[in-house]
Amino acid sequence: MKDYLTIVGAGLAGSEAAWQAAERGIHVVLHEMRPERPTPVHKTRNCAELVCSNSLGSNLPFSAPYLLKEELRRFDSLIISSADKHSVPAGGALAVDREKFSQHISEKIRNHPNITFKCEEVRDIPEDGPVIIATGPLTSPALSEKISSLTGQEYLYFYDALSPIVDASSIDYSRAFFASRYNKGEGDYLNCHMNKEEYDRFIRELKAAEKVPFKAFEKPLYFEGCMPIEELAMRGDQTLAFGPMKPVGLPHPETHAISHAVVQLRRENREGTAFNLVGFQTKLTYPEQKRIFRMIPGLENAEFFRFGGIHRNTFINAPTLLNQELEVRKRPGIYFAGQIIGVEGYVESTAMGLLSALSVVKRMRGESYSPPPMETALGSLLSYVTDRRNANYQPMNINFGLFLVKEMKIRDKKQRNQKIARNALDSLAAWMDRQKVSIDPAA
Ligand SMILES: Cc1cc2nc3c(=O)[nH]c(=O)nc-3n(C[C@H](O)[C@H](O)[C@H](O)COP(=O)(O)OP(=O)(O)OC[C@H]3O[C@@H](n4cnc5c(N)ncnc54)[C@H](O)[C@@H]3O)c2cc1C
Repeated sequence: MKDYLTIVGAGLAGSEAAWQAAERGIHVVLHEMRPERPTPVHKTRNCAELVCSNSLGSNLPFSAPYLLKEELRRFDSLIISSADKHSVPAGGALAVDREKFSQHISEKIRNHPNITFKCEEVRDIPEDGPVIIATGPLTSPALSEKISSLTGQEYLYFYDALSPIVDASSIDYSRAFFASRYNKGEGDYLNCHMNKEEYDRFIRELKAAEKVPFKAFEKPLYFEGCMPIEELAMRGDQTLAFGPMKPVGLPHPETHAISHAVVQLRRENREGTAFNLVGFQTKLTYPEQKRIFRMIPGLENAEFFRFGGIHRNTFINAPTLLNQELEVRKRPGIYFAGQIIGVEGYVESTAMGLLSALSVVKRMRGESYSPPPMETALGSLLSYVTDRRNANYQPMNINFGLFLVKEMKIRDKKQRNQKIARNALDSLAAWMDRQKVSIDPAA
C-alpha cells in the first residue's frame, strides 16, 4: 500500500474525501479532468461544481436531509461548511451562491499543504491502492470501460430507473391488501385494486400529466425492461393492465373477483416502514406524481419518501461489489465514493466521500474501523449501499425509511422524526468517541 492516497474526481465526494483525509495528516493526490476534458453538464473548472440546482435540500430541523447535513457538520465537512458560509435565502432549504460555494472549496483544496492537485483525466484504475474513485454520474468513457472490467459488465449501469417510495404509515390498509400473486410467497406484496372506472381515470390523467423532458445527452436512454409508465400508457390504454398493473393471480380478498388492474407495492426494508410502487419508474414532475399516484386506492394520503425518476447516471451495483468500508471486495485498496456507488444527490455523495476517507485513513494507519451505526443518517445510507441482500439495487437519497428505528410508540409523525433525529445524533457522537474519528488538531 502506498503512503499517499489517490483520489479520482474532485466533485462533491472527491473534494470532501480529499479534505477529510488531508486534515488527518494523509497526503492526497487528487485528479480532476476538467477543464481539459469536460463533461456534458459541468461548466467551470471548480471543484464540487453543482451541475444543476443550487439547493442542497431541506435544512428544516428533524427532516432526514437536515439530519444528514447535521451529521456532516459534526465532521467539519468542507462541503457543508462552505454551503453554510455561502448560503442564500431559500425558505427551509440550504441553497448556495454556486459560484462562491465551489470557488471557496477549490481554494481550500488547492491550498491545502497535504493535497497535490492534478488536472488530468485518469483513464485506468491505478494498480496500487489506496485509491478512491469518485468520478460521479458522468464518469469519462475511458475510465467507465475500466470500471466495467473491474466490476463485470453486469454490475455497471448507465442510467437509473427509480420507482416512487411511500411511507408505510401513510397507506390506507383498509383498501390495500397483502398477498402474493397465485399465493406464491407469504403475502409479501401490498396490492391496490382498481376497478375499470378507477383505472380509466388513472390512465387519462397519466397520459395528460406534465413530464420532465429528457436532456439531449440522456437520449436514447431506456430500454424495454425499464419504460416509464406514462410511455407505456401512451402505447395503448390497456398496456399497463397487461403489464406492471396486471391483476391475474391476485383476486380481491373480499369479493374474490379479479379486478381490472392492481398496483403492487414491495417492501423497501426489513422493518416494512417503506414500500415502492413496483414498475412505476417515471418522468412525471414531482407534483404530478403526488397528484396522480394518490389516485391509487389505498394511497389517497400517501407521503412520499422519494419520487420516481429516470436519469443518465453511471453507477455500480455497490451491494454486490463493496464492503462496508466502501472498498471493492475482490480488489483491496480500491474504494468508491459518491453518486457512482448509487446514492442520489449532492449531500448524499458528500457523505459517502466522508465515509470513504474515514475508512481509508484508518486502514493507512493500521487501526481498526467499524462503520457508523444504522440509527444514524450516515450509517443508514451506508447500509443501504452495501447490504448484500439489497436486490433490484437502484440509487437512493436519504430518507427516514432507511433508518433502523427501535420500537417506538409515537404516532405523531413530527414527534417521531424528532426522536429519530435525536437518537441519531446521540448515536453518532458515541460512535465518533469510540472510533476516534474526529480531526486531530495536531495532525
Ligand atoms: C444533469 C444532472 C443534473 C443533476 N442535478 C442534481 C440536482 O439538482 N441536485 C442534486 O442533488 N444532484 C443532482 N445531480 C446529481 C449530481 O451529479 C450529484 O448529486 C453530485 O454531483 C454527485 O457528486 P459526485 O462527487 O459523486 O460526482 P460529481 O460531482 O459529478 O464529481 C465527479 C467529478 O469527477 C470528474 N471525473 C469524471 N471522470 C473522470 C476521470 N476519468 N478522471 C478525472 N476526473 C474525472 C468530473 O469532472 C467531476 O468533477 C445531477 C446529475 C446530473 C447528471
